[in-house]
Formats: sequence, C-alpha cells, structure tokens
Amino acid sequence: MDLDLVTRNPTGDAAVSVLRAKAQLRNALERPRREGLRIGLVPTMGFLHEGHLSLLRAARAECDLVVMSLFVNPTQFGPGEDLDRYPRDGERDLRLAAEAGADFVYTPPVEEVYPEGFATTVAVGGPLTEVLDGDPARRGPGHFRGVTTVVAKLLNSVGPDVAYFGQKDAQQAAVVRRMVGDLDFPVRIEVLPTVREPDGLAMSSRNAYLEPADRERAAAISRALGVVRDAALGGRPLAAALAAGAAELAAAGIEPEYLEARDAETLAAVEQLGERPVLVAVAAPVGAARLIDNVLIDPASGGGEAAATSPLGND
Ligand code: AMP
Repeated sequence: MDLDLVTRNPTGDAAVSVLRAKAQLRNALERPRREGLRIGLVPTMGFLHEGHLSLLRAARAECDLVVMSLFVNPTQFGPGEDLDRYPRDGERDLRLAAEAGADFVYTPPVEEVYPEGFATTVAVGGPLTEVLDGDPARRGPGHFRGVTTVVAKLLNSVGPDVAYFGQKDAQQAAVVRRMVGDLDFPVRIEVLPTVREPDGLAMSSRNAYLEPADRERAAAISRALGVVRDAALGGRPLAAALAAGAAELAAAGIEPEYLEARDAETLAAVEQLGERPVLVAVAAPVGAARLIDNVLIDPASGGGEAAATSPLGND
C-alpha cells in the first residue's frame, strides 16, 4: 500500500492525515488534547462499508477530532483463518474515511504494533470469551485475546474520549466494555446498531467472499434472527423460537456453527425471556465466508430492534 500522507476527497475540501507511527500519532494529538478537544476513535480492519461509515459519522457528530485506525490485526486470526486473504483497499478506505469526516487515519505496519520481543497480552477471562465465538471448538478465547490486546494498545496510543464499536460484533463489544471497565481505561465505549443491506444481510468486509448465489442465500441469516425474535416475543419458549430460526437457515441450506440465546451483557445461557435483554447470536459458514450476526431482544422496551424495510431493520 503506497498512500499519500494527505488524501483529499473528490470535492477537495475534506482531508485526512495518514499516520503510520505511534510517535507521529502522539505528536499530532498532543496539542488538540491540551486544548481540551474531544477525541473519538473508530477502530477498523479496513475494506470500509456503511457499517464502518456509520461509526465514523457518529464520531464526527459527537467529537472535535476523529481518528480511525486501519489495521488488520494478525493476533485475532487463528491458524487456518482468513488473515492472508482478508480484503484490503487502502486507497478507497482513505477516501471514504475522509468523506465520512475522519481527521486522522492511523495505519501502522505490523512491526509498529508488535515489535520484536513483544510479550504482553490483555485477556478478559470467564464466559464472555469462552462461549459463542470464544468456544475453543470455534475461534476460541485466543481470538478475543488478540482483540483486547490490540484495542488496549489503540486506546493507549490514541487516548480517545470515546471509542466506537458496532453491535454487529456484539460479543467483541461486550468483551471490550468489560476490559475498559476492569482496567479503568478513561474512555466511553459507544456501541452502534448493525447496518444492513436492503435484504437484511449485515454489512461485513467478509461479504466480499460471497459468490452471487451464496450472497442471496446469506439473507436467510437475518431472516432467521427475525424469526427467533418474533417467536420469542410472541410468547414461544426460547428453545422453540431457536428451532424455528434453525429451520429458516436449513431451508436456505445453511447449517450454523451456533444459533444461541444468551444474556446480552454477561452472555450467560438463558432458557426463557425475562426482564433482561437477550442476545440471539448466530455464526454460519456460507460459501467461502464465515458470517456472524445477532439481534437484541429487549422485553423492557416492548421488543427488539424496530422492523423496517429489512427483517431486522437498519439503524
Ligand atoms: P472490522 O473492520 O470488521 O473489524 O469492524 C470495525 C468496526 O466496525 C467494529 O466495531 C465492527 O463491529 C463495526 N462494524 C462492522 N460491521 C458493521 C455493521 N454492519 N454495522 C455496524 N458496525 C459494524
């Protein structure tokens, strides 16, 4: 990737500064911080889509200065996962980030983040990282160790007032919240709704792996979540609601790795809908992609996410 230090958007009036070294980043942020400007951080692995852009726009609206990190973090990929083929388009990312209002893009090389001799990790223990994607038979707790380690480093390098994450990766958001609370990071974590394609498919950089027929089938994932949510809110036991969701997936030829209902904050197993919000989460291979998605059922607010044009609605 050979990128100009400053990229202008097509109108020429929005510019983003590209920084590759922690020292540069600290320098650039020192004065704004001293002047009391509010700094927002949006961590990404690039190949930007509307989901990322919704986070950047929120940061732009709420903060004086917006930093996007663009780093495909090798330590959160397991052996045999898609690190080598993860989609990348740095130039397009810089243009989109500038248009969405980013002031700085921090895109360090791997050796800037993990220099020779690097030996420290940050791990959230317990069920938060051991279930769903953290189940050792799936991505495993090592995935979340990679996430929390890099997020801790980014929070320390940027020192934001607010950091923005997507509900699309609900477990990641819960784990990051726990880390920030447990380790007293002076930052507010904002988790924003999942942005979806018109047919309900959650936007994801990994959707680029889908062949047209698989792309069409993939819409069954959000439909299945809608089926589970509606059945549960309609009074069916969670097990029956989940079975109805699994049938929706099966009809599209999709066999999930998991489709589970869990307490939205602790990720403890739940047998029936009570007062607390429940997260229904799914991971499923579709063609060459492993896709994840979820829906929040909040009985206290009279249901879950509002139904709009797509089965689960957009933000
Ligand atoms: P990634 O580049 O996949 O690591 O994602 C960077 C951030 O964007 C994470 O906080 C994700 O949860 C968030 N994100 C990814 N997809 C979506 C989406 N469809 N809607 C909202 N946020 C998203």
